[in-house]
Amino acid sequence: MFRSLHIKLVMILLLLVTSLMAVVGAFLMTSVTSFYIDDFYAQMSETFGESNAAFVHTLRSEAAQEDGMQRIQAMIETYSGTLGIDGRNRNYYILDARTGAFLAGSDEGGETLEQTENILTARNGSVGDKSDIAANYMDVAIPISGGDNSFIIYIRDNRSTVSSLNSELLLIILQALLVGLLVSVTLSFLLAKTIIDPIEKLTEGTERIAKGDFNETLNVESTDEIGILTTTFNDMASVLHKTLEAVENERNKLDTLFLHMTDGVVAYDGNGALIHCNPAAAALLGRKSEDCRYSELFETMCPFAHVVSLQRSDFVESELAVGDRSVEVCLAPFSDEQRGGVLVVLHDVTEHRKTEERRKEFVANVSHELRTPLTNVRSYAETIREAGDELSRETENDFLDVVISETDRMTNIVRDLLTLSRLDSGRSEMNMARFPFGAAIDAVLRSIELEARRHHHELTRSYPDSLPIIVGDRGRLEQVMLNVLGNAVKYTPDGGHIHVTAGESSTGDKVWMEVADDGIGIPEADRSRIFERFYRVDKARSRESGGTGLGLSIATEIVQRHNGTLSLVDREGPGTTVRLELPIIQPLGGEAAHE
Ligand code: ADP
Repeated sequence: MFRSLHIKLVMILLLLVTSLMAVVGAFLMTSVTSFYIDDFYAQMSETFGESNAAFVHTLRSEAAQEDGMQRIQAMIETYSGTLGIDGRNRNYYILDARTGAFLAGSDEGGETLEQTENILTARNGSVGDKSDIAANYMDVAIPISGGDNSFIIYIRDNRSTVSSLNSELLLIILQALLVGLLVSVTLSFLLAKTIIDPIEKLTEGTERIAKGDFNETLNVESTDEIGILTTTFNDMASVLHKTLEAVENERNKLDTLFLHMTDGVVAYDGNGALIHCNPAAAALLGRKSEDCRYSELFETMCPFAHVVSLQRSDFVESELAVGDRSVEVCLAPFSDEQRGGVLVVLHDVTEHRKTEERRKEFVANVSHELRTPLTNVRSYAETIREAGDELSRETENDFLDVVISETDRMTNIVRDLLTLSRLDSGRSEMNMARFPFGAAIDAVLRSIELEARRHHHELTRSYPDSLPIIVGDRGRLEQVMLNVLGNAVKYTPDGGHIHVTAGESSTGDKVWMEVADDGIGIPEADRSRIFERFYRVDKARSRESGGTGLGLSIATEIVQRHNGTLSLVDREGPGTTVRLELPIIQPLGGEAAHE
């Protein structure tokens, strides 16, 4: 209950009452003293002033007598009632005007009378009636001369009446002060009820809101300043609530974003302590979130102090190798130097780097593949021109045959590259239609039969007649089969065996075809790479047989566009077995999903 405001209120009221009483008391006491002094001098003036000139005249004539002093004393005694002389507080004295010596008076102790300023004035012949509010007495000295005699009538009041009156007054003021103080304390309780109670309620409300409880608004109980303050406070609380909700919402949004984004985000405070690390960052860095310390991961890349001191729009970019993955790292400061920190954004660029690598390799391969036939064409052409008639017709024709075959090779490479480019860019549409899988294999076998025979290969087949009808681009799939069969013919020494099998998967949703040969086979180290562009196990042999090294890459692209697979079968023995697997059902009329 006795809060500081309450104590202040009591103190203010007490001070107010005390100072009021002090002012009133001082004023009253000064007024009473002044009144008393004024009254004294008015009485004296009435008796000895010009308005009573006859009395003064009589005094002078009495003074001229031989027993002048006694006569004057008798007259003063007669007037003692008018002059207020009581022989105690106010006395009269008759003094010798020349020496100032005491002659007679109402006070026995007149002998010891000091020579006041007014007495000295009277001894000089003038009336001494100067008052001094600070003195503890009031006096008046009137010179009376008659004949040879000169006297001074000196009236002196010791002010004890006014002193006792003032004491009385002081007592009353002190009693009033006491009552005033009691009233103040009582009043302070009443005031506390009307002023402090609403403030206490307001304080409770602010404490509630400080704890995050925005459910209740404060009751506005009055229209005074406290009422206005309460209304303003309610408005402020509602704005604060909405702002906090918006901030919370933003935070949740950011949390969800950080949680699900594929890029990693790690945040550190101004001292380098970890604030946040999303799951993607932990996965990219290959550590637990709480172990992603700046000092261990990025300090060597760029010192923390340097990143913090950067401008807000600046950042440091670098790359980190985590296992076999490449992670692009972007370090940027946030907020200011004191309260901010560092934000690290991680982006997995492994695929990007690989693609870039593959692209470079591809460009190098293309230039290499084209340079060889071009050099050949140029050198043969030059030889023919330089030799002129020296060359026999037969040799010249041989050279021209080489030029033609090298040109064909370049045409094949360019054709294959164009096919791949179309497949890559998705410009090459698949003409999806239903067709019998078995019939397609039959057609391909028919077209390769002659070539196989030329190489004295034994081409055998074993697949049921009832192979299902599938959906796909028949022309392109036959191209794939022809490529696989062509490879078997090419990479099997003459007189080999090529066996084609096909069937339907046990799940009933796929068909497959396998081409097995007993040729040169593919070494273990090259098996995973033969589907790459321009990859050839034996370049010379491939070139000799007119291969570009792009056949299986194109075949793989086409098969993938049909959601199928083209793979090597792991098996014992010499030779190679290639397996083509295709789903039976495809979305008709549209293209199958592709990368
Ligand atoms: P190419 O035009 O060189 O035949 P491909 O893409 O069709 O290109 O084949 C890539 C490489 O795979 C070939 O150069 C060859 O080395 C190897 N290859 C493919 N099929 C066979 C097979 N049946 N037997 C042995 N090697 C093969």
